[in-house]
Formats: sequence, C-alpha cells, structure tokens
Amino acid sequence: MQREFKRNFSIIAHIDHGKSTLADRIIEFTGAIQDREKKDQLLDRMDLERERGITIKAQAITLNYLAQDGNTYELNLIDTPGHVDFSYEVSRSLAACEGALLVVDASQGVEAQTLANVYLALDNDLELIPVLNKIDLPSAEPERIKQQIEDIIGLDTSDAVMASAKEGIGIGDILEAVVQRIPSPEGSEEAPLQALIFDSWFDPYQGVIIMVRIVNGSLRKGMRIRSFKGRKEHEVTHVGYFDPFQQDVDCLSAGSVGFVIAGIKDIQEVKVGDTITRCDHPAKQPLDGYKEVKPMVFSGLYPVDSAEYDDLRDALEKLVLNDASLSFELESSAALGFGFRCGFLGLLHMEIIQERLEREYNLNLITTAPTVTYAVHDIHGGCTMVDNPTQLPDPQLIDHIEEPYIVANIMCPNDYVGQVITLCQMKRGIQKAIQYIGSDRVMVTYELPLNEVVMDFYDALKSATRGYASLDYDFLEYRPGKLVKLDILLNGDTVDALSLIVHADSAYARGRDLAAKMREIIPRQMFEVAIQAAIGNKIIARETVKAMRKNVLAKCYGGDITRKKKLLEKQKEGKKRMKQVGAVEVPQEAFMAVLRVG
Ligand code: GDP
Ligand code: MG
Repeated sequence: MQREFKRNFSIIAHIDHGKSTLADRIIEFTGAIQDREKKDQLLDRMDLERERGITIKAQAITLNYLAQDGNTYELNLIDTPGHVDFSYEVSRSLAACEGALLVVDASQGVEAQTLANVYLALDNDLELIPVLNKIDLPSAEPERIKQQIEDIIGLDTSDAVMASAKEGIGIGDILEAVVQRIPSPEGSEEAPLQALIFDSWFDPYQGVIIMVRIVNGSLRKGMRIRSFKGRKEHEVTHVGYFDPFQQDVDCLSAGSVGFVIAGIKDIQEVKVGDTITRCDHPAKQPLDGYKEVKPMVFSGLYPVDSAEYDDLRDALEKLVLNDASLSFELESSAALGFGFRCGFLGLLHMEIIQERLEREYNLNLITTAPTVTYAVHDIHGGCTMVDNPTQLPDPQLIDHIEEPYIVANIMCPNDYVGQVITLCQMKRGIQKAIQYIGSDRVMVTYELPLNEVVMDFYDALKSATRGYASLDYDFLEYRPGKLVKLDILLNGDTVDALSLIVHADSAYARGRDLAAKMREIIPRQMFEVAIQAAIGNKIIARETVKAMRKNVLAKCYGGDITRKKKLLEKQKEGKKRMKQVGAVEVPQEAFMAVLRVG
C-alpha cells in the first residue's frame, strides 16, 4: 500500500479509562475478527494483565478501513504498556506512530497517567485526537472534562470525539478522525533500511518475533539483517503483520508496521529501541533514542519449599526469554536457602514477575525487600557493586559508599503540592524546581536517592495525593551517602534476608520501627522470640514475641470435629508462606515489612 494510505497510531489513557475496550471495538468495527474468534480484551494477552487492567507487552494490529472518502486505509494500531516502570517501552511504541487517541473517561477526567502519556506523546511529536469515553454513563460530564483537557494539557478539544467504547458509540467518528487528522508516515523506500524495534518476544516455535516500524527502506524475506547493538547477522525467514492473527507478506516497506522473524534465539540481540538494518547496504546510523534499560531494583526470590528450586530456575529462564529487562543470578541465604537475586526495572515490574511465577508456574515464593545497587569503595581503593545488603563488607574495610540518585518529575494538582514536597523532603530529596502548568497543575522536580524511592515512595505518593500524582524518573548519577547496614536478629541470630542498607540518620528510627513491626507480624510460637535490630555490633532496639500459652484447638471444646478441621486448615493456609528461620517460623510479610516502616 502507498504511504499516503497508511496511518500508525496508539491509544493512550489513564488506567481504566477504556483503552482496551476501545481497541476491541475498533478491531470489530473494521471487521478484522469474526464473532466466533472474538475474545474480550483481545489486545491483552495474558490473564494476569487482564486482571490488573494493564498491558505489559506492546503489540500492533493491522486493520483495513474503508473510509468515507472511498479509499481503503491501512491502520496500524499499536498498543502501549501503561505504567511508570515501562515508560521507556511506552515511548518506543509511540515513536512508531504519527498520532494517538487520547482517551479520557468523561466522568473521571484527566488523571496522572493521562498526563504522563501525553508528555511521552508530545516528545514523539504525535498528533493527538482527544476522545471522551464513557459518555453513556449518567455521571459523564463531557463539556467540563473538555475544558479540563484544554486547561491542563492545552489541547484544542473543539473537535474531540464523544464515544462509548462499551456501547459502540462514536467508533466510526474515531476512525474518520484517524484518517483525516493523523499524518501519513514519512520516509523513503530507497534509503538504506532502518527499522525501529518497539517490541520483541520469544515464541517457542518460531524463535524471537520482532515488532518493527520501518522508517526507511524495506524489509524482505531472505534479506540478511542485524541490529546496531546485536552482534550477529540473521536471515529473515518471515515478515508480515498481525490482524490480529499472524499474516505473512513478502515485504514491509517504509511507513509500515509489522513483524520480522529471523531465526533469532536470544532476545538480547534485538532489544526494544534498537534499529535493524540490512547487512549489504547498512544504514550509517541507528534511529534516535536507543537507551539500554537496566534493572534498577533487586530482590531475592526464594521457593518456600526448597524442593521447588529447580522449577523456579526453569520458570525464570522462560520469563527472561520474553523480557530482556529481567535479570537473575544464583544466590543463597542462611535463612532462606537457595534462590535467585533478580533485577527489575521497578517495583511494578517486580510484582508482575512474582505474580507470574506464582500463577503461571505454580510456585510459592518468599521475596526479600527490594534494594538498589551500591558502589562500595574500600580502603584499598577498590570498588565493588553491591545489590544485596549481606554482601556489604565489614564497615572497617569500607572507605565510602555511593548510591544511585534519580531525578523525579512529579505532576500533581495544586492542592497536593505541600504533601508532595513533605514526602520528597522526608525521602532525602533535593528540590530542583516547582513549575505551575495550566491553572491547577504543578510539576515538582526533585533529586532523590533511588534507595528511598524503591522502598515505598510510589505508594506513599499515591496515597498522599489520592492517586492524582504521576511520577516519572530517570537515573542521574552515583553520589556518596552515609549508609549503614541494619540487621535484624531473631533469638540472637542475624537473619540475612532481613538485612537492609539505610541512611545513617534514619537507621535508629528504622530499626525501632522495624523491630516493632516484626513483633506484630511474627506469630506466637511455643517459645519466646526475641527480635533485635542492630547496626554493626550495636543493638538499637529489642522486642519480644511471648510464647504461646494454650493450644488453639482447646477452644473447640473437643466435640466439634468439622470446626476443628476448619481451624487446622486455616492454620495450614497461613503456614504456606511461613519460612522456618532457625527455630522460628517467619511469615512472608516479615521480609517485606521494611516497606511499611519509615
Ligand atoms: P483500560 O485500563 O484503559 O484498558 O480500560 P478497560 O478497557 O479495561 O476498561 C475499564 C473498565 O471500564 C471496564 O470495566 C470497561 O468495561 C469499562 N468501560 C470501558 N469503556 C466504557 C464505556 O464507554 N462506558 C462504560 N460505561 N464503561 C466502559
Ligand atoms: Mg487495558
């Protein structure tokens, strides 16, 4: 198809504003799928995503649309992931488009992720088409929300589309707007091949499937290709598009979006954001903006039942095939046995991986508190990167420690600026700017130690601003910090999996809070459990869990067997996530308790 009849676009929205539902309607409207093949929320591949209402993997679907002008257009609908951890992936998906539908719930209005996504779209010079969704709701106030979009985003809403994805209202208008208002792609078919990779995943039958936007040149079956950051050459065996089913073609040309398969086994060869070119006539340069995404947050993952160790390793190996940003290596803990140190992009990424391991692979896991990577300089002039508190050398051997800082942009309504500043100050933030945007929005910029952010910053920010703040951050640099290791001891033994690296100024308070929290979490046992917090050899707090006095079953007056059974079963449930640490049974929660103090 000629370039003038192609349109590449995304849908951007705050979570729950109706992105997936609208995508389904658009696919139906263009007749791409038959009823029997219709599935709810077609773009969301995994059950988990559906339940969480977020889309992790970006995908693209090619649709043919017969417009009112009598021409048939090729529409490429590119899906974007929806959370701060994945903003880089969002940005790459948007870089493959010329425009986006900005979906706003007509009863809720502009929210945090609406803005974060708008900025990513503007960074990529996209044409935005405002769509007010859910106009079927009695609480919808499209006129007020239109005004809000004008005020906050500065976007003209005079030709915003009124829609209800649920009722199928306004879908035709949306498609006409796409055709009329989103520019056709530029680029030259004659120029050397440059294809932007915006997604890739491993398919057990076909190897790595790479989603690309062809910016210049064309991509054919049989061509030899390589990526700028990859090391190997590969021969293209298939090119094509999804409609949403895989359809092979001979050639994808400038302006098109589709997939490439080239017998690639290793997803590291074709990372998101990199550029593919051909080996015989290579482009001189990659496309803009390739940024390697590195894990920023680390945590230990251990099977509750040590017999599941091999299963956990197999599962991680499978997940890594599809997720170049996940890393893992063997680790062992005196308290928890054998497990893996895993690296994640952020906290949501971590939660998603944990949940997938448990749900899709049926594993029962204990996870340790998330941490960042510290640069530990020793007194002999050496430097080691440490991502696990237990690896911190003896304090006497440490000259100084450096920790990663980020620069965080936080957008929130005026009313919450005070709370945001208080929170950032509490987290050792350094204020850089406060900028008023529109009539009631503020952008607050802080430099923050990432260590404080991985603890519980995002949740704290959300609760301080009733969910209205959006956070966007970038790695800044390593800076020296007064950091110490805080240990927790149970009945005199240090529990390695509970150790933390914290700032010296807050170590005492953290230690006391943590010991108190542990007392609440650790259930009574047959004997007394002493909980201590220590910095080096110095005990800074102590709490005691008293011994259990009577048998719980005694309450059941002997006779009632079913009640007894129920109680025992309930206890068994509760035990599933218990870990035997020495003689003490410690629940999973204890390992994450650090997130809830300080
Ligand atoms: P996403 O998180 O942006 O992908 O949102 P979803 O498409 O998953 O929709 C979130 C919820 O809003 C679901 O319960 C949908 O059924 C509902 N929803 C989506 N569009 C509409 C609409 O136009 N009207 C109404 N009443 N509900 C809608
Ligand atoms: Mg969705």
